[in-house]
Amino acid sequence: MKKHNFNAGPSILPREVIEQTAQGVLDFNGIGLSILEISHRSADFKPVIEEAESLFKELLDIPEGYSVVFLGGGASLQFCMVPYNFLEKKAAYLNTGTWAKKALKEAKLFGETVEVASSADKNYNYIPKNFTVPEDADYFHITTNNTIFGTELHHDFDTKVPVIADMSSDIFSRTLDVSKYAMIYGGAQKNLAPAGLTFVIVKNDALGKVSRQIPTMLDYKTHVEKGSMFNTPPVLPIYSAMLNLRWLKAQGGVKEMERRALAKADALYSEIDRNKLFVPTIADKADRSYMNICFVMAPEYQELEKEFFEFAVSKGMVGIKGHRSVGGFRASCYNALSLESVQALISCMQEFEKKH
Ligand SMILES: *Cc1c(COP(=O)(O)O)cnc(C)c1O
Repeated sequence: MKKHNFNAGPSILPREVIEQTAQGVLDFNGIGLSILEISHRSADFKPVIEEAESLFKELLDIPEGYSVVFLGGGASLQFCMVPYNFLEKKAAYLNTGTWAKKALKEAKLFGETVEVASSADKNYNYIPKNFTVPEDADYFHITTNNTIFGTELHHDFDTKVPVIADMSSDIFSRTLDVSKYAMIYGGAQKNLAPAGLTFVIVKNDALGKVSRQIPTMLDYKTHVEKGSMFNTPPVLPIYSAMLNLRWLKAQGGVKEMERRALAKADALYSEIDRNKLFVPTIADKADRSYMNICFVMAPEYQELEKEFFEFAVSKGMVGIKGHRSVGGFRASCYNALSLESVQALISCMQEFEKKH
């Protein structure tokens, strides 16, 4: 039976990217060695990291004056590296979920923080509006897609304060204006590559403005200056990321991914809104994530939750259990997930409705 992979992360990658990665593990580019056993500084690997970087720049239309670096440590290490490198006096944070809150917690270790707004009062089921960012903040931190709660910021911010964004779970799924950000970062394992890789897109002249000493490994300048080669970068996930970006480009680029994301999200949210058994957890359509689509049983059908879950699993659905802090269901619809998989889930919901 075909599996429909709705895992939230690590998550679905295009089958051909997995096959090409596997081939590189067995015999990289026909050199008779595995990519696992060659130097990251070798002439064989160098073109991989260069192509990964140039595909980032091309596909996201990154302007001059920005660097792309590949690190380890996950998005979670960025929660501390960001204030280490950018917080001199005060930093502003928008608290839209678990990851945003964790980022804010780390920043508090480095200086004054301002939570400009929070949706914690309603279990993060909306994006706060009408807040002001203090003009004297060193930066304004946002989480563009809230993977756990299923809300998403679908626009870039216009503020005088430099914007720093965690885009772990929606990078390459929508077009964006990189020039509106001082930095964009994320873990690769949601929409880009296997776990173990962190990407950072940073505006070069935003660096070097804090007075504190920064340990070498935690200083973005180190990695920018050494082209991600200060120490051994995560070689295999970088290779996979490069293959995935080649795939993405061949599919039509980020614009096409955005079109597909909208089509998938539209189809699934329409069914959730229509089907009497289910309700969406995010009421405001403008705040709904295209990547992580959350829904629960309607109150009068609450007792059917387990039965629907088991029914969906029997039909090949994988990873649709909601995060424990929301309950119900979460269908993650990342770039590599096909519309056919979304339609299979919809059929499942319709079949289940007919039975009840
Ligand atoms: C998954 C996730 C993280 C955590 O990423 P790690 O790489 O596991 O540290 C942070 N932010 C967002 C938005 C995420 O989805």
